[in-house]
Amino acid sequence: MRVIVTDFWTSEPDLEREALGDLAELHCLGATDELQLRGQIEQADALLVWHDIRLGAASIASLERCRAIVRIGVGFDNVDLDAARRAEIPVCNVPDYGVEEVADHALAMLLALVRRLPDWQTALRGQAPRWDALCFPRLPRLRGKVLGIIGLGRIGTAMAMRGKALGMQVCFYDPYTADGRDKALGLERVESLQALLGRSFAVSIHTPLTDETRGMIDAQSLALLPAGATLINTARGPICDTRAILAALQTGQLAGVGLDVLPCEPADPEDPLVCAFRQPEHPAYHRIILTPHSAFYSEAGFAEMRRKAALEVRRALLGETLRNRVV
Ligand code: NAD
Repeated sequence: MRVIVTDFWTSEPDLEREALGDLAELHCLGATDELQLRGQIEQADALLVWHDIRLGAASIASLERCRAIVRIGVGFDNVDLDAARRAEIPVCNVPDYGVEEVADHALAMLLALVRRLPDWQTALRGQAPRWDALCFPRLPRLRGKVLGIIGLGRIGTAMAMRGKALGMQVCFYDPYTADGRDKALGLERVESLQALLGRSFAVSIHTPLTDETRGMIDAQSLALLPAGATLINTARGPICDTRAILAALQTGQLAGVGLDVLPCEPADPEDPLVCAFRQPEHPAYHRIILTPHSAFYSEAGFAEMRRKAALEVRRALLGETLRNRVV
């Protein structure tokens, strides 16, 4: 059998071979554009897909005997699920490998911004280092402040637990999570996004990218936040409007923003928020933290993700029940 790794990965697929070597040959295409898949994937018995390309309807329709499309990761917005449904090919993901890492990353961004770590680094460097503990006299205390979680799934829950450990008052907005989860976790459920934003000192986004969440955080929603709020997005870039974020940083509506994901990745150098982040003279420079969609990463988590994706392919090839089917 043939298992094809479509994109991103060009080095030796050692873990994948360990899981699948007795059943299938593995081919890594390292495609950077979907068109490069043409003529390469039609005979695949399974596809392992990273996030560098979109797997659209034409590619999926060209698969002649594929038993599963497995995303090496959580988000599956780069796979055309309707096309997979039409072709009757199951789509699976690996939902759990990086739950703790992403929540740790979101928390790290929140703490760094609130504790003003980027400013301190600058204050202590350069020609005239400023050794002054009261440099930022209005530095807030975190205990008791409201942390608003949007999307109380795996990562949102892990972030909520971290917020509780800091003594924050954790609220969440998630219209799809069952009643009772709030009580089991000791969290406050808020019935609308507007109400959540209206009272959050810090907001952390943990929803998938859907028609509903695309552009969810725009100028209008940012205007609902109390002045001086902090926004963290480790979910998906297109959920936030970066121009509106920069405008909110400029008026002080936002004190800081931490983004691991951007509407365009790698970062668009023309995006005004990215320009501000790269320009030390910009007034918002120290209040923007960007990371390159790396929140998921730890050495152990990365290996777990690859191994689990390959094992899901193994189950598909053997006709066993799939563990993490999304379609
Ligand atoms: P999950 O499916 O466990 O949780 C998502 C939650 O969002 C669910 O509880 C769902 O009910 C809720 N939700 C859906 N639509 C909503 C809406 N309109 N408003 C409010 N809540 C809504 O997902 P997860 O594993 O916790 O992942 C969360 C996000 O993090 C996803 O976007 C995923 O792609 C992203 N992610 C990013 C990285 C990274 O490296 N930055 C890594 C892993 C996952």
